[in-house]
Amino acid sequence: MPSRLLVATANPGKLRELRSLLAGLAFEVLGQRELGIVSPEETGETFLANALLKARHAQRLTGLAVLADDSGLEVDALDGAPGVFSARYAGPSASDADNNAKLCAALAGVPASRRTARYRCVLVYLPEPPAEAPIVAEGVWEGSIVDEPRGEGGFGYDPHFLVKGREECAAQLHPGEKDRISHRGIALRALRERLGRDAVG
Ligand code: IMP
Repeated sequence: MPSRLLVATANPGKLRELRSLLAGLAFEVLGQRELGIVSPEETGETFLANALLKARHAQRLTGLAVLADDSGLEVDALDGAPGVFSARYAGPSASDADNNAKLCAALAGVPASRRTARYRCVLVYLPEPPAEAPIVAEGVWEGSIVDEPRGEGGFGYDPHFLVKGREECAAQLHPGEKDRISHRGIALRALRERLGRDAVG
């Protein structure tokens, strides 16, 4: 019987990617919406603080092993914004389109050479109680921001995130390719190493 792993996110794009990245491991993966869990307010000032907050909230409610992701986009010309505010950059109930419009407006007049940015992902795994120590992993994906959206895949800022060293934006990548090189893919592979191959099948 595979052990149950609750993925503590309400973001369907993240859940899809994490499910795909967890495929083949000895887990039955559950999304928090399936269990009727509502995300807590993200009051932390860092990705790690918010990932821990989401993971602990979901575990308190279910008693299950939990994986939580906190991630976002850091734009150098904006001093690292939107950062931990990436999901709500244009306001508390902002859509991806609202956030992308605000991002492009904030970068108006900034030349391509100064539009460098990166996605950062912090993953927190909380084993099933009574084990307590969280396992943490991080991944970073470098790129730059373009005004014209490209591609239909991915989610969030992907149509405006030109992958470093490539001609494509993240939304133009095949999902398997994004998993292979993205911040989330890098973080999940690091987490798997830390968990130990035996623990995850
Ligand atoms: P969180 O749910 O607070 O971690 O918000 C993460 C936000 O960062 C998302 O809503 C997106 O706006 C952005 N983000 C994180 N990872 C990605 C990605 O892989 N592609 C596009 N946007 C991302």
